[in-house]
Amino acid sequence: PPSLSGDFSTLMGWADSVRRLGIRANAETPEDAETARRFGAEGIGLCRTEHMFFGPDRIGHVRQMIMTEEPEARARAIGALLPFQRDDFSALFRIMAGLPVTIRLLDPPLHEFLPHGEAELKDVAAALGQSVDALRARRSALSEANPMLGHRGCRLGISYPEIYAMQVRAITEAALAVSKEAGKAVIPEIMIPLVGTKAELDLVRKACESVIADVLKEQNAELTYTIGTMIELPRAAITADQIAESADFFSFGTNDLTQTTLGLSRDDAGSFLPAYVEKGLLPQDPFISIDREGVGALVRMGVEKGRATKPDLKLGICGEHGGDPLSISFFEEVGLDYVSCSPFRVPVARLASAQAALAARRNAVKA
Ligand code: PEP
Ligand code: MG
Repeated sequence: PPSLSGDFSTLMGWADSVRRLGIRANAETPEDAETARRFGAEGIGLCRTEHMFFGPDRIGHVRQMIMTEEPEARARAIGALLPFQRDDFSALFRIMAGLPVTIRLLDPPLHEFLPHGEAELKDVAAALGQSVDALRARRSALSEANPMLGHRGCRLGISYPEIYAMQVRAITEAALAVSKEAGKAVIPEIMIPLVGTKAELDLVRKACESVIADVLKEQNAELTYTIGTMIELPRAAITADQIAESADFFSFGTNDLTQTTLGLSRDDAGSFLPAYVEKGLLPQDPFISIDREGVGALVRMGVEKGRATKPDLKLGICGEHGGDPLSISFFEEVGLDYVSCSPFRVPVARLASAQAALAARRNAVKA
């Protein structure tokens, strides 16, 4: 892609010379990754892998895997997804050319992966050789009234360990292949979503490490990688000192952290929130700018507790707030290492980080 030049790049150069925060992008498609690089992103801070499973050649396998309880049928369905994921990750690693890439293991609202309607149910039943009635019963057993507060994130990875095993194998194989092809090491960062307890992270981390060890043994190869977690539940922030024992990095998921701290649905809040903010009942839309006294206090707690356990713990943020200037000044203040935002917000984030760094210097001089 053409690079951006002229006044824009002069301005960005000035911003880059003063900012402290690293700037990454949230990207899962090659197009987004290319846009991110063109705008100066220094890595991918969040690759949401759930978006990779909706293609017409993939979703059927996902549905089969979720809907069957037979280990062999699950293994077959998930096995069919491995080559797709290997290609997905290889493409991102190639584009990012050695820059850090944080890949988050599957975090779907489960209902989006269940077969909808009779036709889809029949397709899955035929592929699995099961009766439509049996699958209808399983679908209703898996249905949830509040999917965003239910069987998602690492909870799903724990119920279906095959999914994360497949993804970690795909990440490892892709990282090894692209490292070899480019003559430059790819260092993948594997991220576990929706962790609330150290025990969850320990269980998933151990499973990931075992898959990586298998692949490295098969290929007689070596790979440097890190495994970290999202901090997106209040409990994770509150117990960040324990969670840090098992994490190489934290990335604050401020979308879910806002939802769970305020008890406010991130999908439905639109109806009354503007009037509510106008009446001064909340300082601003908390899904846009960080609510310093609420979610912000939990982020600060997560930073302090995490670093108390591991002083060099890498800390980022990948919720929508990562591209919001007011929030970026807060992330500068609490000492995060980087923000990750949508690719088109990268220039704004570079400028806002520079302004935040200058403000921090001014404050230091005053003190
Ligand atoms: C978040 O919760 O802030 C986050 C980045 O994850 P997602 O938006 O995919 O839930
Ligand atoms: Mg989240």
